[in-house]
Amino acid sequence: MNTAPQNLASPAPAGTGELAARFAREFGGTPEGIWQAPGRVNLIGEHTDYNEGFVLPFAIDRTARVAVRVRPDSTVRLLSTYGDQGVVNARLDSLQPGSAKGWTKYPLGVMWALQQRGIEVPGIDLLLDSDVPLGAGLSSSHAIECAVISALNELTGAGLEAQDMVLATQRAENEFVGAPTGIMDQSASLRGSEGHAVFLDCRDQNARLVPFETQPADLVMLVIDTKVSHSHADGGYASRRASCELGAEVLGVKALRDVQVGDLAEASGLLDEVTFRRVRHVVTENDRVLRTVELLESEGPGAIGSLLDASHASMRDDFEISCAELDLAVDTSRASGAIGARMTGGGFGGAAVALTPVALEQAVRDAVVKAFADAGYKVPDIFTVSPAAGARRIA
Ligand code: ADP
Ligand code: MG
Repeated sequence: MNTAPQNLASPAPAGTGELAARFAREFGGTPEGIWQAPGRVNLIGEHTDYNEGFVLPFAIDRTARVAVRVRPDSTVRLLSTYGDQGVVNARLDSLQPGSAKGWTKYPLGVMWALQQRGIEVPGIDLLLDSDVPLGAGLSSSHAIECAVISALNELTGAGLEAQDMVLATQRAENEFVGAPTGIMDQSASLRGSEGHAVFLDCRDQNARLVPFETQPADLVMLVIDTKVSHSHADGGYASRRASCELGAEVLGVKALRDVQVGDLAEASGLLDEVTFRRVRHVVTENDRVLRTVELLESEGPGAIGSLLDASHASMRDDFEISCAELDLAVDTSRASGAIGARMTGGGFGGAAVALTPVALEQAVRDAVVKAFADAGYKVPDIFTVSPAAGARRIA
């Protein structure tokens, strides 16, 4: 069975020269620059963001790249190397939530959000090329938005700080795209740095880089995309949020961030059984993020395996957002050599991550592919990611 590194979720990215050549063919002339922004994986800290807690994502070595040129008018021409939509035309003076379809709502949403901040946005020609897999929980949409906002920030001379760009892309996603996302994905994409994870406090939105270097530790981070997207994901998400709000209300705190692990014994007498387990996941997960940060700073990635495992068990048993495919990916990875594994992302499908010794990478890949085949599941997509640089100009 050959599941080796060619098992990529997307084709290799075009080089900058190739992208400029394609730009010339499609739009004529040359782009003013090429900007890139990465997707992200959440290392640990799931469903803690809307409880004003902690998350620890990292920017990955899969990026969206945009070649951009300002136009003298208010026309926007957009083309992606992915799909067959061709060039999409839009007008800057008629941007409003709900007005865009397909992938163009991401770049247009960013342009709209900048307009809402009072920034004069010019018409542009834009060519997108991305190797962030779509819909695998690696935030391909934020990679696009962060690449576009980086380009426009420079081309308009707006001079936005990273945090302003985080909030503008959140507004684009929430109001223009209509996705109720927080600040984690774009914070990782905009603030990420090679060999680091981004430790984010979702209450005050402070971010700090934490060393996360897999290579010197002879480890690789495998992403196992189960290719499962469960239909009850939306309802499940809303009901988990409602449980968290109920828990915070009964416990008399602003958010579950304010409950400590030591408070849980008392909380169990005040909450119904299900709400208690939801609360326990959030409270212990926040604690695990803090302990992961401590261990990464003191000992390195080889020390965090059991925290990843505990995070998965908590999501499976207390928060109940895993599924059979994710559990199989995690259990099989562990059994075949990963030092820690967990589902990552919102749950009910999507991807798992498995921190794996380099020497055992192939064994883990083969074991997971075999286990999925034996169970009659879809063939999973398995690839490595490493902690990479955040959004920047590359040409
Ligand atoms: P995720 O962000 O987790 O990958 P989303 O559903 O939020 O999943 O975003 C996926 C959407 O992003 C796709 O449906 C598509 O509209 C857009 N997208 C991502 N990558 C590309 C690309 N290379 N070209 C065109 N659209 C893309
Ligand atoms: Mg997305």
